[in-house]
Amino acid sequence: MRLDVVTIFPEYLEPLNVSLVGKARARGQLDVHVRDLRQWTYDRHNTVDDTPYGGGPGMVMKTEPWGDALDDALADGYEGGAHGPALVVPTPSGRPFTQELAVELSERPWLIFTPARYEGIDRRVMDEYATRMPVYEVSIGDYVLAGGEAAVLVITEAVARLLPGVLGNAASHQDDSFAPGAMANLLEGPVYTKPPEWRGRDIPDVLLSGHHGKIARWRRDEALRRTVRNRPDLIERTDPAAFDKKDREM
Ligand code: SAM
Repeated sequence: MRLDVVTIFPEYLEPLNVSLVGKARARGQLDVHVRDLRQWTYDRHNTVDDTPYGGGPGMVMKTEPWGDALDDALADGYEGGAHGPALVVPTPSGRPFTQELAVELSERPWLIFTPARYEGIDRRVMDEYATRMPVYEVSIGDYVLAGGEAAVLVITEAVARLLPGVLGNAASHQDDSFAPGAMANLLEGPVYTKPPEWRGRDIPDVLLSGHHGKIARWRRDEALRRTVRNRPDLIERTDPAAFDKKDREM
């Protein structure tokens, strides 16, 4: 998968060199290009923003640097359709970023991120590129950050771990919270490792039983309990047919 990020803070994207994403890059599974938006400014002050039309506080990012930077990224390998790029625009007014959306993005071969600063990017930029590729306006949560770079790191990590061969054990994301399947719409319950006793705290006996059926049932019960406590909205959204008799007895 290819990723391009256009930003006024290229150094903010340094974490893309470490851990899971860094290793995926080193193995050639991710081809990442971080571009400095100011490279596409032509005045002495490298201006990327201007006052908003209609008045109001704050500044708006200008069309020209974004247009030139995106054209430059696209000049190198643009193809339309399913094999072409998608533009990912982080914004608090976007569609919520979910595991489902992470899966959808992980199926695209090329993502171009446009993390903004100030009050965001002049609307015409998104409208222009929407004629050439899908544009995903994405929010990572109901709060406002100073810029979109942290959102790019969040989205990239969630997407990269879904790519074939990136996680050592592909099954690990299939059991995660929000993963499709038997545990869909349930949060993952508590997890334990050795030693079996720590500071007087034991692990639940069932985990040592070796009985796969009982362990699976315990995991589902714990997942249900945690979801009811922390995210009752997920339960409300679930088709009642997805719950078995034992779920209902809880
Ligand atoms: N005026 C904008 C609004 O109220 O929707 C907020 C702009 S914010 C200060 C600057 C930039 O940070 C946004 O354009 C976006 O790139 C990024 N950003 C802030 N909060 C975000 C969020 N929850 N999800 C994704 N990106 C966010």
